[in-house]
Amino acid sequence: MAIGSVKSRVRSFFRPGLAKRRRSSNTSSECEHKKIKNELMAPAQTDAINNAAVGIDGVGLDMQLASPFFRNLPIEIRRMIYNLVWTGPYDHKYHAGRGRHIHFQNGHWINARCVMYEDDEDLDLLQKNMDSMHSSGKGDLVMWQRRLASTWGCRHWRCEERMQYERRKSVDHTDFMSMMLVCKRMFPEVVESIFESHQFLFNDFFSAHRFFVYNPSPYIPYMRHLDLSLNLPFHEYAPFVIDAPKSRVRELWKALERISCLHTLRISLDIYDRGAWRKIPERGVTEQLRNLKVLKDFTLELPPSLPIKADIPNMHNLDAQGEEPFTVVRRPPLRYWQFTPGQVERFTWDTHTKGQQSHCFITLAREARNVPNPYLLDFF
Ligand SMILES: [Zn+2]
Repeated sequence: MAIGSVKSRVRSFFRPGLAKRRRSSNTSSECEHKKIKNELMAPAQTDAINNAAVGIDGVGLDMQLASPFFRNLPIEIRRMIYNLVWTGPYDHKYHAGRGRHIHFQNGHWINARCVMYEDDEDLDLLQKNMDSMHSSGKGDLVMWQRRLASTWGCRHWRCEERMQYERRKSVDHTDFMSMMLVCKRMFPEVVESIFESHQFLFNDFFSAHRFFVYNPSPYIPYMRHLDLSLNLPFHEYAPFVIDAPKSRVRELWKALERISCLHTLRISLDIYDRGAWRKIPERGVTEQLRNLKVLKDFTLELPPSLPIKADIPNMHNLDAQGEEPFTVVRRPPLRYWQFTPGQVERFTWDTHTKGQQSHCFITLAREARNVPNPYLLDFF
């Protein structure tokens, strides 16, 4: 009796008839749904959806009309829902609530949360900290000088250190991938929402060029907030000075022009191979930024305006220019640098005028020694 009962249970577990009945009931409900759908929609609308339902790869794209999410909610409401999905537990903690650093590393795109605080927007914050260390004699000035010279810019040194050293992965967590994998119908809406709802931050030129020029995503026009911190060697800027036709920076500027609906844009430019003598060919480099259309806030961050001799027009400062479509923000002049390895020195900028010529010097605070600009002879 007991064995028979078990057998019947096993048989009932593998009941093929039930599966058939389930399939038939599903099929009937699908048919029923399609019938209702076709009754509700106009013939032209049905044709459009049927045409759209064939993907480029030949695989049918299910319009998911059985789902109330797609059937009942307009795209505007669905966008609001996606926007709520991106709300993270750390948004209130950091200055850029939805800032994501994007960079290409080891053959993969990596995105990480920007972890800078509101105080970090002070472009002189690093040197203020160094001032207090210099006066008290306590603290690691070499470490802070490394942050000051960071190619990620003075506003994102904390994010750079976090990428280099151990970091809490939960801070970087997103639901991007899980949302993109829901279905083919939802995929484009999700990616558009990611581009519209987040601030994209690029801190190395290679990644920015690859993202916008070399292998651009078709969703780039949906980008709304962009922050570029480009710390380049002089040979990347030089083509602007001599008006060379081939320039990777110019290619990047042209690609940015194709983003038609940018709300906020911040471009921070610097030059890393000139040490403390940081000066870029401002007029030439920013010439094509005038064609960029930014709806709300367009800020250009430049190195300090040093009294360095510059005869070629493209090397001139932007300060002498007229109306610009962007707000120019200048970093404060440097007052700390590591001229000798392992020794961070405080200095001031001095100008020596002889006749009509002015020359700029660095005067070290501890020694009665001037450091002349070693790059004066470039292009002059
Ligand atoms: Zn950051």
